[in-house]
Amino acid sequence: MMRGNVFDIQRYSIHDGEGIRTVVFLKGCPLRCRWCANPESWEPDSSLFYVRSRCIGCGTCTAVCPDHEAEKDGDHIRLHRERGTKDYAWTQACPTGALCVKGERMDVREVMEEIRKDRVFYEHSHGGVTFSGGEPLMQKEFLLELLKTCRAEGIHTAVETTGFVNTEVLREVMPYVELFLYDVKAMDPEVHRKWTGQSNEIILENLRFLAEAGAGIMVRTPMIPGVNDREEDIRQIMEYLKACGIRNYAVLPFHQYGSGKYESAGIPYELAGLPVHEESYVQKIQGMIAAEGFQAI
Ligand code: SF4
Repeated sequence: MMRGNVFDIQRYSIHDGEGIRTVVFLKGCPLRCRWCANPESWEPDSSLFYVRSRCIGCGTCTAVCPDHEAEKDGDHIRLHRERGTKDYAWTQACPTGALCVKGERMDVREVMEEIRKDRVFYEHSHGGVTFSGGEPLMQKEFLLELLKTCRAEGIHTAVETTGFVNTEVLREVMPYVELFLYDVKAMDPEVHRKWTGQSNEIILENLRFLAEAGAGIMVRTPMIPGVNDREEDIRQIMEYLKACGIRNYAVLPFHQYGSGKYESAGIPYELAGLPVHEESYVQKIQGMIAAEGFQAI
């Protein structure tokens, strides 16, 4: 049976599509958005995650790790993520849960067992399952099997995507996806490249492809102070959406909820201290979007 790398499954979500949803998070992402709330998703393989505040410095991990991936550092530990075979079974020796692994190889049957648990909620709320990440389309074969199984069982399917994929991948999964939650971060390719590591050209082309193919689409823009938060930035995106015939659009206000994960994942965080928007500014932008006739799903 097809297997994939899953780093989280969250139940009872109400923010990732219509109704009550189970969100399945798949590992791997081709972008490196500096505001990403899930930096532990970036690497396609399972990865070490260390919550320093939970570490009691007992040294158990340093004694059992086979390739010196962990060494004592005062009252805590220092990790050497580049070492070892990436077999992280030794992390289970940590008595406090300070050390854990993000990403688990699961097969389709195991993931479907989790999804089916909330079937009754999907039916009463018009909810379903949302595949997120990372970029779930990076695990296309695994995702495709899950999507087909969900559709065969009448479970509504949504895919949260960066759009940074080969168009043929979208063509293949599209018949089994009822809603694409599609990020458009900036219209300027250089701004996009600067803040995400990649140009937006293929993302915009793929969005047009999906729209012309009649796919269900909800476009979202994570609105980041000083990056893409001017009225002019949002208006440029809306113009493109109108040209594609897309009427579902919303901004996602910037937050710092994921900032603590960066240290745990061993990744530098560059937006520390960046203030969030005033509520009144978010409302002003949302009003501007509504005045242009867009709706949020
Ligand atoms: S086993 Fe856990 S609590 Fe003990 S030193 Fe290692 S990370 Fe810290």
